[in-house]
Amino acid sequence: MTLSIPFDNSYARLPDAFHRRTPPTPVAAPRLVALNRGLADELGLDPGALSGEAGAQAFAGNAVLAGSDPIAAAYAGHQFGQFVPQLGDGRAILLGEVLDRAGLRRDIQLKGSGPTPFSRNGDGRAALGPVLREYLVSEAMAALGVPTTRALAAVTTGQPVHRERKLPGAVLTRVAASHIRVGTFQFFAARRNLEALTALVDHVVARHYPERAARPDRALALLEGVVARQAALVAQWMHVGFVHGVMNTDNCSIAGETIDYGPCAFLDAYDPKAVFSSIDRHGRYAFANQPAIAHWNLTRLAECLLPLISDDEDRAIAEATEALDGFAPAFEAAYFAGYRGKLGLRTEEASDADLVQELLDRMAEGMADYTLTFRRLAAVAEGDPEAAARDLFVDPTAFDAWAERYRERLAREPDDAGVRRRRMERANPALIPRNHLVEAALAAAVEDGDFAPFDALRAALSDPYAPEADASPYADAPPVAEEPYRTFC
Ligand code: AMP
Ligand code: MG
Ligand code: MG
Repeated sequence: MTLSIPFDNSYARLPDAFHRRTPPTPVAAPRLVALNRGLADELGLDPGALSGEAGAQAFAGNAVLAGSDPIAAAYAGHQFGQFVPQLGDGRAILLGEVLDRAGLRRDIQLKGSGPTPFSRNGDGRAALGPVLREYLVSEAMAALGVPTTRALAAVTTGQPVHRERKLPGAVLTRVAASHIRVGTFQFFAARRNLEALTALVDHVVARHYPERAARPDRALALLEGVVARQAALVAQWMHVGFVHGVMNTDNCSIAGETIDYGPCAFLDAYDPKAVFSSIDRHGRYAFANQPAIAHWNLTRLAECLLPLISDDEDRAIAEATEALDGFAPAFEAAYFAGYRGKLGLRTEEASDADLVQELLDRMAEGMADYTLTFRRLAAVAEGDPEAAARDLFVDPTAFDAWAERYRERLAREPDDAGVRRRRMERANPALIPRNHLVEAALAAAVEDGDFAPFDALRAALSDPYAPEADASPYADAPPVAEEPYRTFC
């Protein structure tokens, strides 16, 4: 079967300053180890044609597909608060864009496909472990309903990569609404290239915010749109206990998707101060700090847009500030709406925020498992005083006191228990890609070449809200660890 992908490459058609034409570097022995058939189908591609040798060649970058116009994109970014004027795709190459079945434009990008003009001292390659981690976690996030880049395929290269030790190499095929980030705007703003900035705003509004395209104040309209999407996104992260880990401005998507799964991790026991990344020494990207950081990143975007918002600098600053001030209320609204859903509440009362916060406080004190506590609330809501949720707390009576207040609140709800249970099931996953499960799946693949644990975990995580998911062996909280979980990237 010949592999053909109907590319239409709008980003490659932007001026030269946006990118460098860069083909992938072929690898020694490509082998397809994962293919996302559902996503292929969503993209209008034939999964059958993508599997086997043709897929391995294409997703390794060994075969140049007709219509592909491979580029490495230019971008800058603040890394842990420090501005770096040139980063760019150092190990990623955009093969091109396709219009999916819903008519949405999607990037198809290889990650780990060899050096580019932006590689600096890097090798342009990726190790198998991080590739499989991104595959598992990004697909789990999609199944959880969180906007995210997707994983279409993973291939092993048959070539080692050299990190602290020699590791098997791999290439991930990533699909995104686009790979345009706050750092893309910073790249041109730092160079005072207003022409490119204007072209970028036009491109992004047409592509990601078409509902705002008619606004004459287009740059401001864009800023408001990104503020709204990032506020909603970070609220969703909090609802599922996700810690991104490296919220640099170059990892902050303009389309509002979760992007760049490096040192990310999920909460087991609830801890608002949780930090997993070994390089985040000051907790800049701690769980509860994520909304503040998103706002900080959006402020950097606003700075880039000022000259396009108004020629009058004071006026531009006032308008941008007003747009940024929209973040807190948008975040709070999404945050509490999500938690009300997790508690099964359909009506809204002034004290609901308090009820949520009290539960979270008790979970933090009681080191309760975040996912399981919420999943088991449905039984509490049905009036079961012995519901298993309480057993998750170091001191179960601390939960009982909250549960009493919760039942009083539920008594003022209109729904019957059955309806509420079904709604709560859809709001509280039984399954998340727990850190210990992800690590075990990666270790089997990397150390033993055994992909069965990866395949099994990926299958289980595809339906995290299902009633059957409670009985999954992957639903359990991890055994108590001697060492805190650490991620590296
Ligand atoms: P990240 O920390 O993944 O957001 O990446 C930050 C920057 O480092 C980006 O410009 C990446 O393209 C670049 N980078 C990361 N790893 C490599 C690598 N192995 N080779 C070349 N560039 C890399
Ligand atoms: Mg990045
Ligand atoms: Mg990365």
